[in-house]
Amino acid sequence: MSASGGQARAGLPSSPPAPYDVERIREEFPILKQSIHGKPLVYLDNAASTQKPRAVIGTLSRFYATEYANIHRGVHLLSELATAAYEAAREKVARFVGARDTREIVFVRGTTEGINLVAQSYGRSHVGPGDEVLLTTMEHHSNIVPWQLLCEEKNARIRVVPMSDAGELDLDAYEKLLSQKTRIVAVTHVSNALGTKNPIRLMVEMAHARGIPVLVDGAQAAAHSVVDVQELGCDFYAFSGHKVYGPSGVGALYGRLEHLLAMPPYQGGGEMIRRVTFEGTTYADPPQRFEAGTPSIAGAVGMGAAIDYISSLGREAIAAHEQELLEYATASLGSMKGVQLIGTAREKAAVISFVIDGVHAHDVGTVLDHEGIAVRAGHHCAQPVMDRFGVPATARASFALYNTRGEVDALARGIEKVQEMFA
Ligand code: PMP
Repeated sequence: MSASGGQARAGLPSSPPAPYDVERIREEFPILKQSIHGKPLVYLDNAASTQKPRAVIGTLSRFYATEYANIHRGVHLLSELATAAYEAAREKVARFVGARDTREIVFVRGTTEGINLVAQSYGRSHVGPGDEVLLTTMEHHSNIVPWQLLCEEKNARIRVVPMSDAGELDLDAYEKLLSQKTRIVAVTHVSNALGTKNPIRLMVEMAHARGIPVLVDGAQAAAHSVVDVQELGCDFYAFSGHKVYGPSGVGALYGRLEHLLAMPPYQGGGEMIRRVTFEGTTYADPPQRFEAGTPSIAGAVGMGAAIDYISSLGREAIAAHEQELLEYATASLGSMKGVQLIGTAREKAAVISFVIDGVHAHDVGTVLDHEGIAVRAGHHCAQPVMDRFGVPATARASFALYNTRGEVDALARGIEKVQEMFA
């Protein structure tokens, strides 16, 4: 199931979708009105985290003011209301990613915890000495280190799919690396450092043809394109609330029910058990089996509100807006002398990594900040990507549903200022 705005009801003519009014949308994000160092804020650090619409802020405030209690264990009304709100959020996440069943959605702290959960639970029971875990060069550290921990413990080995100078995965190499030893493929849907959108459906088909499951790191994709886990065919899909205009400290892991049913717990504690004695414990069914302890209750509810907000705009419309910004920014920055774009894949999300001749990325970030422009500078938790391109760091502008062409122009002016200062 793919969420989208403006779907026609059967038998009725479809009304044209509302035009994408970015200025009206910006009104929904109070933080964007701020001045930074006396300049209007130009927030282009959306790949790190997105800002929050009133719908999310209001939901959190209302939830804490009127419905908050601990969940699943209370017999009192507030606990029932909070439980219903938390479980309604799970349903929203399930619809958002096209899961078949709400039991396939585990609330976690974020993408990082989702991946660690799979590595520690599925991984530890399926990966043994001599086995291989297949990653790609463009993974975020969150999709590398959990697998390294597992492989160190199990005497297994990480293999890595290489990529081209444009930042596209080498699918021939991928095919060759899929072997009888491969126990799982873990790949990012969209690279946070390069913007590359990977052909997940094809990669899943290739892995499944050999009986190998696939985990997708959806941290950079969920807010920016339609995600349908059934269409992608993947086994696991992890993403973070704070990158989909929701709160931090919460995220979701989709796992195919047959996997989750067979997987051992990841952490022990309250909520994840059926019966505890000192002689032994039996565990709850998924998803509770994987949600030990009190979760981010309001976080999940806020993430549900964020999903409603995104769906009200329509993910196709958001993606089209961001693609337009990407093209505009690529043309603008790509034509600047002394500016080199890192990551020029044919299929990209609205992320532009760049280096400026003779200027360290941190200096770029600092000068831009004084112009009110927030970009990220550094290795973006993707050091192997930096190594691949032979740069210590890049500056990265990443766009979201509320960014404008005017902000791209401001970025270009800011880069000119950097160049003047370091000339
Ligand atoms: N994977 C990718 C591709 C990311 O961009 C990020 C966040 N930068 C993560 C994983 C980790 O997400 P989180 O910190 O929300 O767990």
